Amino acid sequence: MAGAFSWYAASATLQARQATAPAKPAPSSSATNAEFAATADEVLQQMSEITGLTLRSPLKKSLRTRAQIRAYVVNEMNEDKDAAERYAGQRSAEAFGLLPTGFNLDVFMVDLLTEQIAGLYDPKTHEFYVADWIPVADQKMVMAHELTHALQDQHFQIEDWAKAARPNDDAELARESVLEGSAMAAMIDYLLQGTGRSLQDLNDIDPSMLIGDMESTPMLKKAPPFLKDALIFPYLDGLNFSAAVLRPEGWSALSGIFAKPPVSTQQIMHPALYKSGKVPPKVVIPSMDRDIGADWTKLEDNIMGEFGWKEVLKQFLGEERATPVSSAWNADRYVLYEQKKTKRLLLITRLDLASDASAERFFITYSDALKKKYEHRTGEDHQREFLSFDTSEGGVFLRCVAAACVTLEGGDLPLFEKLSKELNWTAPPGKEATARSRGTGDPSQLPAAEPACSATRNPFVTQPGEPPEESSRRSALFPQ
Ligand SMILES: [Zn+2]
Repeated sequence: MAGAFSWYAASATLQARQATAPAKPAPSSSATNAEFAATADEVLQQMSEITGLTLRSPLKKSLRTRAQIRAYVVNEMNEDKDAAERYAGQRSAEAFGLLPTGFNLDVFMVDLLTEQIAGLYDPKTHEFYVADWIPVADQKMVMAHELTHALQDQHFQIEDWAKAARPNDDAELARESVLEGSAMAAMIDYLLQGTGRSLQDLNDIDPSMLIGDMESTPMLKKAPPFLKDALIFPYLDGLNFSAAVLRPEGWSALSGIFAKPPVSTQQIMHPALYKSGKVPPKVVIPSMDRDIGADWTKLEDNIMGEFGWKEVLKQFLGEERATPVSSAWNADRYVLYEQKKTKRLLLITRLDLASDASAERFFITYSDALKKKYEHRTGEDHQREFLSFDTSEGGVFLRCVAAACVTLEGGDLPLFEKLSKELNWTAPPGKEATARSRGTGDPSQLPAAEPACSATRNPFVTQPGEPPEESSRRSALFPQ
């Protein structure tokens, strides 16, 4: 959660600044420590004045070496989510096409964060660290951000507050965006001290001012676009959200956000929807566990949110096409299964859009995305609101009815027909269904290309003696 990533944006700024300003020779260690402690106390007092959050108990603070910070990152990663939860999150990102198959997320994140960290606040020990290789002059900005977390924590218990959104990934990312966004807002007010201006006077915030030239750091250069976006989202979208919600009252409105947290990334991306109280309705995907069979494990059952769907569309079609379509998000759900032996994935998603017309637009857009995702496909059947084709990883289906769209990837037509039936939809206009209505329903009569995937894999045999496997795992789809 925030504890694992809360230093991120401030450190990115430092990375950019350090690139242009050669570091001064480091003074002796004891002088650095004394200077550090005095500076931290001074910044803490200023952040308390800026945010109106009083310091309730003394804060532990220390300088840490890169090795110590790396050890913290590894420990925090393991404490935040267990290995199975992290695996489920990584596989979910792979299933949506957001990470390359086999991408080692854990190793990448440890390297990335060790590179990026300039300072952090640990809500478990209530301790504040600054990396010992950061020049004192640059430490102040990191401190302004991290010490805001310390003050937030003394008033709102940030770790429990953010995790209270679990298992809803979308809502948890929204809460993290409040933590990071308000810490960024406080940092800007800190930097504007003495200029006669504050965050409230800034109409547009230039993101490059805050995150610097992130592309220039070696690990970020290598990061898949989704990871980069997911890391930056809480800081920049969270900042815009905080600025909008704190206006016009100012920092006295902060406690109201903690009392009534945003419930979705959509509310972060569109603060007016937070103010108007637009809450996504709960949508369900009918349980397909029995139909899918006992040799499959349910890895994940979660929510992508507007941010997640925007990333999926952006991955294949670019931001310009992704933004208008994803902003019609109303609610969603996805369930991911993995076959125990083969590790094949089966993904079912349901997305409810703002209107029937938005669902039509989504169908057109997502059809294009799925075709890009599966370049090698056969047996394509593309109708007005129904798309299906076969791939080496199983059948792919997309169908919209009224304002709702569902997808199945890695399955077959009988399973998709079952899903449609459970949703109280009419039978999908697939080829086998069409063939059946013409009286040639025996699948063995069909061209081999289409049913071959399901026939060879045959994952959908119900085994009544065995209960469907339940999963209590939470997702780590969004690195937090
Ligand atoms: Zn932070």
